[in-house]
Amino acid sequence: MSFDPVERPDGCDVPEKQARRAQARELPGLQRWTREAVAEWFDMPFANLLFQAQSLHRKHFDPNQVQISRLVSIKTGGCPEDCGYCSQSAHHKTGIKPTKLMTLAEVVEAARAAKATGTQRLCLGAAWRSPRARDLDLVCEMIAAVKAEGLEACVTLGMLDEAQAERLAAAGLDYYNHNIDTSREYYSLVASTRTMDDRLSTLARVRGAGVKVCSGGIIGMGESRDDRIGMLMLLANLPEPPESVPINALMRVSGTPLAGASSIDGIEFVRTVAVARILMPRSVVRLSAGREHMSDELQALCFFAGANSIFVGEQLLTTPNPSQERDASLLGRLGIQPLSSNQPSSPAPSGSA
Ligand code: SF4
Repeated sequence: MSFDPVERPDGCDVPEKQARRAQARELPGLQRWTREAVAEWFDMPFANLLFQAQSLHRKHFDPNQVQISRLVSIKTGGCPEDCGYCSQSAHHKTGIKPTKLMTLAEVVEAARAAKATGTQRLCLGAAWRSPRARDLDLVCEMIAAVKAEGLEACVTLGMLDEAQAERLAAAGLDYYNHNIDTSREYYSLVASTRTMDDRLSTLARVRGAGVKVCSGGIIGMGESRDDRIGMLMLLANLPEPPESVPINALMRVSGTPLAGASSIDGIEFVRTVAVARILMPRSVVRLSAGREHMSDELQALCFFAGANSIFVGEQLLTTPNPSQERDASLLGRLGIQPLSSNQPSSPAPSGSA
């Protein structure tokens, strides 16, 4: 395999003409990755993998900038889904007390506080299987309020039908988050109340409505490397890869079925981030849940591997996240600047530093 940073690996299953077009025009979604090609990236010596990932990262983004998101739980707990990693599922005994949907005024306050601390995107999360009509009305008002504060708006509300996706788009929503979590093969071991095809249908409706897609997965749920390969391959092979790809390390929450999962090896986690960067070079790759338990050095390696977004705030839904002081210290020592709220989180022009 060549180490030319823009050369595609052997085994990339795409007609030559189309590959040339994709390479020349850098259009996403024109190439389909094979399992073998993705496995080859995972197997590569660490230094070579990181060199490739960092080279591609520099081609599309400023390597010294990170996009800052903040996640607000607008409706916590009592979720009818049974995701094995989640503290908010009504199926698990985690001690989380269900709350009511936040008010518009509370969301406006959260948006202002987020803006004041340098947040570029506010994500509103509700623990629902799918939103009810009257709740969606209020969420649409919340989206408009977040946008009025000059922030990008993202929501994660569960499954959507076409009309709901259209409504969110009309409200001005920038991103819809809906993680695929893991590989198609491993999915039924993580959740039984919905299927991977349910997830993909919602993603297609979001895309069809013209809203940007945020979708990634969770590492360390007992899945194999093959599952990590399958998950990234599935995301990268969507008709258009997600613009935002959160890579989470499982937060083992007491009372959930996955509370006893073995922790993921840090090097394997960095490899996963690097392969995500290589497969989806124009997507923002977010280092999401699990940073609380990562050393500064491990996070630095993730940034070097191509992660360029983080969630800030001391709470991530119901689990802890690094303090503002720790994040400021880490980014300061690495010379990484937050993307300002008036900068869009799209890639820099090709060829930028
Ligand atoms: S991950 Fe989302 S859908 Fe699954 S149980 Fe938790 S809140 Fe519900």
